Amino acid sequence: MPKTLLVASRNAKKLRELRRVLDESGVAELELVGLDEVAPFPETPETGATFEENALVKARDGALATGMACVADDSGLEVDALNGMPGVLSARWAGAHGDDLANTTLLLGQLGDVPDDRRGARFVSACALALPDGSASVVRGEWPGVIAREPRGAGGFGYDPVFVPEGETRSSAELSPQEKDAASHRGRALRLLLPALIDLTRD
Ligand code: IMP
Repeated sequence: MPKTLLVASRNAKKLRELRRVLDESGVAELELVGLDEVAPFPETPETGATFEENALVKARDGALATGMACVADDSGLEVDALNGMPGVLSARWAGAHGDDLANTTLLLGQLGDVPDDRRGARFVSACALALPDGSASVVRGEWPGVIAREPRGAGGFGYDPVFVPEGETRSSAELSPQEKDAASHRGRALRLLLPALIDLTRD
């Protein structure tokens, strides 16, 4: 019988990404369900000071409300020249939540005078797994790179058009989904969580 794992997200892309990581590792026994497929429950606002705190709160909310194991992630972009910001504020850096164009335009403006050798940045993803018994664990994946001077590429989302991963000349919006999964912060964090996810299939 397949075990069900709640993914604390309404984003179909995130569910598909986790499915790909599980399939690549031969973990077929876990059936993934998103927040849209379970009864609504009160969700704590994402006000944590760290990615880890936010991911743990989301995963615990989901596990306690549904009685299922629940995985949740929180992610964002840390820019060296901004002392690690936008960080946990990445989604609403320009004010409105999830306005990708406004966020990237504001970031490029802020870095207008910053020279090439000080444009370092990294995407960060914290992925948490919580069980209905209250236990939880969290891991972090990072993807280093630099902030470009102009947006490029139509793939991905968020800050992808202005992020050039280390060792690349293309922006992350110019990578194929498979290339991005293999290198990205979320791919790295999900792979770190794999042993705990595999344990779930053994209970
Ligand atoms: P959330 O964790 O899905 O809420 O993402 C927070 C914000 O971080 C997003 O709205 C994006 O602005 C940014 N972000 C996180 N991961 C990525 C990525 O893979 N590419 C581009 N932007 C990202």
